[in-house]
Amino acid sequence: MIISVASGKGGTGKTLVATSLALSLSDNHKLQLLDCDVEEPNANILLHLAINESQRVYIPIPKVDETKCTYCGKCAEVCAYNAIAVLKEKVLVFPELCHGCGACSYLCPESAITEEGREIGLVERGNSGNLELIQGKLNVGEAMAPPVIREVKKYIDPANIVIIDVPPGTSCPVVEAVEGSDFCLLVTEPTPFGLNDLSLAVGVVRKLDISCGVVINRVGIGDEEVEQYCHREGIPVLLRIPLDRNIAILYSQGIPLIEGMSEWREQFLRLFQDIKGILAASRVAK
Ligand code: SF4
Ligand code: SF4
Repeated sequence: MIISVASGKGGTGKTLVATSLALSLSDNHKLQLLDCDVEEPNANILLHLAINESQRVYIPIPKVDETKCTYCGKCAEVCAYNAIAVLKEKVLVFPELCHGCGACSYLCPESAITEEGREIGLVERGNSGNLELIQGKLNVGEAMAPPVIREVKKYIDPANIVIIDVPPGTSCPVVEAVEGSDFCLLVTEPTPFGLNDLSLAVGVVRKLDISCGVVINRVGIGDEEVEQYCHREGIPVLLRIPLDRNIAILYSQGIPLIEGMSEWREQFLRLFQDIKGILAASRVAK
């Protein structure tokens, strides 16, 4: 089963939820936690796993052999990202803009374009007992998160429970991370900003046809609008985490919630049972 943990915006407690769920379940299940928040992977700040494997991620960028090039301009025409420009007697490639789609080399009539790898990030792995962490790290200054997320997701073993810590927001990296999940937990906070971002995130998971439920974090700081929205939309609120100074202190010290406040372990185990129940019910309904 693949459960992704997403939020329409950063700082809502998504990683707190993903790591708490992973640690609660890993006592009795083989579990993989995929940290796909590749611009800021911080699940391991709470998990403290030793990294024992690291692999670089590359994307293919074009290399032009100007002895073969006729400067016809077809490569620049086909590039949707303006990553290649053809001047009178020069072809310029802008590696930072290139998405590595391969269209230019495929369509070059002179076969003047080959590809070379450009490093954009890393995938790291570590494990302890039943729990395996796979985390992606995008190099500083890089904009291309999806290829790193794709590499992280290649390690999914369907025999395990898989929890994906999704990047914040609702753009391409989110879609890349959430796609293929059985269920998406949307973490939000009960404020107008939280509601706005939650409704955008709901739009994304509904487009992907993935069942979802909501975790409301920091209950007590805002209003009832998020609860009312979920009720109206028929989205179950599966967990409410109160605004609690002790939870914030644990997080700031890198101590997992279920270790610092063990009573939360039961709550996360119940959350998992609720997700299983929702998925079983939706299978019956189909
Ligand atoms: S498509 Fe090929 S031949 Fe034409 S300008 Fe680009 S590299 Fe040169
Ligand atoms: S590989 Fe794709 S994105 Fe990169 S320069 Fe070629 S057409 Fe543009």
